[in-house]
Amino acid sequence: MKLRLAILLLFVLPTLALAAIITAKRQQDRQVAEPAYVERVELAAPATRIGLPQIAGPDDPARPLVVIDPGHGGFDSGARGEDIFEKAITLGLAQTLRDSLVETGNIRVALTRDEDRFISLEERVDIARRLGADLFLSIHADSAGESGEVTGASIYILSEEASSKEAARFAENENRADTIGGVDLSSADDTVDAILFELSQRRSRELAAQFASLIEREGQGILTFHPQPRRSASLVVLRAPDMPSVLYEAGFVSNPEEARELSSPGGQARFAIALTDAIRVFFVRNPPERETASGARDAT
Ligand SMILES: [Zn+2]
Repeated sequence: MKLRLAILLLFVLPTLALAAIITAKRQQDRQVAEPAYVERVELAAPATRIGLPQIAGPDDPARPLVVIDPGHGGFDSGARGEDIFEKAITLGLAQTLRDSLVETGNIRVALTRDEDRFISLEERVDIARRLGADLFLSIHADSAGESGEVTGASIYILSEEASSKEAARFAENENRADTIGGVDLSSADDTVDAILFELSQRRSRELAAQFASLIEREGQGILTFHPQPRRSASLVVLRAPDMPSVLYEAGFVSNPEEARELSSPGGQARFAIALTDAIRVFFVRNPPERETASGARDAT
C-alpha cells in the first residue's frame, strides 16, 4: 500500500506542479496581453476636400473670376488688436470688395470663406485653383513687429527670397497658420516647389507683379500705404504655379486708429473702391484665356 501511494505521489505531484506552473505562466501572459485599461482613440476620417464656395456675379464662365481669400478664421484669429482680431477685419474687407466687384456686372467673385471658420493655407489655394480663378487675392493685416508706430498697407508677391527682414518675419507668422500643436499640416515639398517656381510660375509671377503695381496706383490718395509697400516673401498662400496671386496686407491691427479704419464701413468702402479699380484694369489688360472645345487657348 505504501509503495502504491509512493508511486502515485511520484507521478501526481510533478503533474500538479507542472499544471500550477503553466497556469501561473498563462495568467502572466494574459496580464501582458490584456491590460486592465484600454484607451481607444478615434482617428480622424481620411482628409476630404472641402466643398467649393459659390461664385457671385454674372453666370458666364467666360467672365474673369477673382477668388478673394480673407486670412485666418475660426480658432486661428490672426493678429490681435485692442478689441478686434485680424480674422474679422479680413472678412469684412473681403465681403465689401466682393459686393463692389459684383456691382461692376462683369467680374465673377468667390470667397474662400464667407464666415468665421478655419481653412488651411493649402486649402485656400486649392479652392481657387479648382474654381479656375484668374486672379487670387489673399487679404491680411499685420501687428506691429516693426519699430515705432508703423502703419499702412503692403502688397506682397511670391519670392523665395524675402525683400526685407520685416517681410521674412511677416511670412513666417503667416505661414504658421498651418502648424497646429507642432504638427505641420502643409505638405509642401521643397524640391517640387523649386521646380514649379522656376518653370510654371514665371508668367503668374509677372502678372502678380503687374496687379501689385495696379493696387498701388489705384490706391493712391485713397489708401494709406507703408513707406515701402511693395514686398515679396515666401508665402505658402501665394505658391500656386498657374494663378497670379497677391497678398494684400491691409495695415496694422495693433494700431488702434488703423484697426478702426479697416473695420469701419468707410474704410472698407475705400479699400473696395481702390481694389475694384485695380482688378478691373488688370482684367482689361489681361483678359482670361479659356480652353475652347478644340483645346486651343482662346483669349476672349
Ligand atoms: Zn494674417
